[in-house]
Amino acid sequence: MRLILLGPPGAGKGSQAKVLKERFGVPHISTGDMFRDAAARGTELGRTAHDLYWGRGRLVPDDVTVGLVRERLARDDCRAGFILDGFPRTHRQAEMLDTLLAERGQPLDRVIYMKTSREVILQRLGGRRVCRSCGANYHVVNMAPRVEGTCDACGGALERRPDDADETILERLRVYEEQTAPLVAYYGERGLLSTVDSDTPVEGTHAQVMRALGER
Ligand code: AMP
Repeated sequence: MRLILLGPPGAGKGSQAKVLKERFGVPHISTGDMFRDAAARGTELGRTAHDLYWGRGRLVPDDVTVGLVRERLARDDCRAGFILDGFPRTHRQAEMLDTLLAERGQPLDRVIYMKTSREVILQRLGGRRVCRSCGANYHVVNMAPRVEGTCDACGGALERRPDDADETILERLRVYEEQTAPLVAYYGERGLLSTVDSDTPVEGTHAQVMRALGER
């Protein structure tokens, strides 16, 4: 199973990837998580990526991002496949990924485009809360924790992701439309695209994804 989840911020790519990872036993590769981890560990890459790029809603340069993905795909656990979440995000990344996968003899099976309305995106990102300690995701309305502001799993404090600030959300959506949305046509032309309606809650979207993959 070699899969890309494509869609705007707030489409629910991460939530679907978590379920698919268990179902198919392949790793979930999120470039956003990689950048957040690097920032939390305080590496130079992590600091630079945060200060100059993702903290401001901008994309990290293609060469840096593809370099990380190249290393990740070379690990043993990717032999059986992978789920890419949030990568590729530009035309150049898509082309570089094609080259990388051709070199590895691992062509893509499918690209799932998680189509989401602007209204739903703003509602999801505005209400998203993340645990500072364990990274678990919540939503103030759709998936509220038992105690407000506190993680059910570990008791850590919940906070807004720094790039979920209102102005940064608008910048991320602008960047998505300009740089990432054209990939829908890119993969459509290659006969790899399936579109699902991601305005629905996680379970409904999951059922559509499974149908798109020919599974029940
Ligand atoms: P995400 O969690 O996927 O929304 O990613 C968070 C941030 O990490 C994005 O807003 C970008 O700044 C950066 N990022 C993640 N994936 C990529 C990518 N494929 N190319 C460039 N920047 C990325």
